[in-house]
Amino acid sequence: MPDHLGAPLDNPVFERLALVGLGLIGSSLARVARRKNLAREIIAIDASATVRDRVQKLDLANHVTGDAAEGVSNADCIILCVPVGVCGVVAEAMKTGLKAGAIISDVGSVKGSVVAQVEPHLPAGVHFVPAHPVAGTEQSGPDAGFASLFHNRWCILTPPDGTNSDAVARMRAFWEGAGSNVEEMTPPHHDLVLAITSHLPHLIAYNIVGTAADLEAVTQSEVIKFSAGGFRDFTRIAASDPTMWRDVFLNNKDAVLEMLGRFTEDLSALQRAIRWGDGDALFDHFTRTRAIRRSIIEIGQDSAAPDFGRQPKENDAQ
Ligand code: NAP
Repeated sequence: MPDHLGAPLDNPVFERLALVGLGLIGSSLARVARRKNLAREIIAIDASATVRDRVQKLDLANHVTGDAAEGVSNADCIILCVPVGVCGVVAEAMKTGLKAGAIISDVGSVKGSVVAQVEPHLPAGVHFVPAHPVAGTEQSGPDAGFASLFHNRWCILTPPDGTNSDAVARMRAFWEGAGSNVEEMTPPHHDLVLAITSHLPHLIAYNIVGTAADLEAVTQSEVIKFSAGGFRDFTRIAASDPTMWRDVFLNNKDAVLEMLGRFTEDLSALQRAIRWGDGDALFDHFTRTRAIRRSIIEIGQDSAAPDFGRQPKENDAQ
């Protein structure tokens, strides 16, 4: 295949892959699984008839159904691609259809809560390997997905202690086949890391865009007109899916509150430096933060090319 995704695998990682929730992430997985031959057969399960209809029209799967238990029967891998708040409900709905030896995974942006919701519903002999691809966009739905979404992005696996090592190795092979770099960590550590790298930035974006929208001294049209000064990047993040992000904050409450506490302390220090005209403190702080941006570019997780939020970003980490 003459594209940057590379050649399809000679042998698929899974025979029957069931994807539950065919939104941005689920439909991107369906696309890359087809392109890279990661699974011989793809089953798409979605609660929404409109989504199922689109999946059929886009020809993303071999079989499309709204019945989770029927859809997962005979699947050797099932990946939950639904908002984190409904992972437990979905696991319960599909449990009677799971075959022994099947691998259950997910793509949720929070891991501790998903493990707590899903584990109680899993029959013996089924392997649970939670995962989080740190890749996404602010778009939702089956039309928003694309095969290269996970290319050169991290995917974090958080297998509980004692998870079958073959199951972990197969999930690793699946994500590497999708183009990702794979790392393992515990669910609590994942939730702490993502609280600062993803969840807090989204909260700040939602807040600053809300504050700007509520201002009376500055008109809405001025906010939109002069947005290139930095505001425009925040508006892109603040356009992210409300259901997904509501669930992230409700399900990663402790880690987000911990990071929010540190953030407000540091913000107060900057506020104080501005009030007291402490230019050295501001300059030192901005110099440190600039170095972090350079490190991200150096490891290839973003480009140095300026776009001021104008180009559609395919791969912003979530
Ligand atoms: P999305 O585009 O909104 O897709 C979610 C899909 O799940 C929708 O088709 C939705 O149908 C369906 N769904 C909801 N409840 C369901 C249920 N009970 N049974 C079956 N299907 C159900 O969301 P997404 O962005 O792909 O996010 C999916 C997961 O990926 C979330 O857990 C999120 O935390 C994680 N994630 C997202 C990103 C990102 O950037 N978006 C990045 C990494 C990880 P309806 O539309 O009808 O509700």
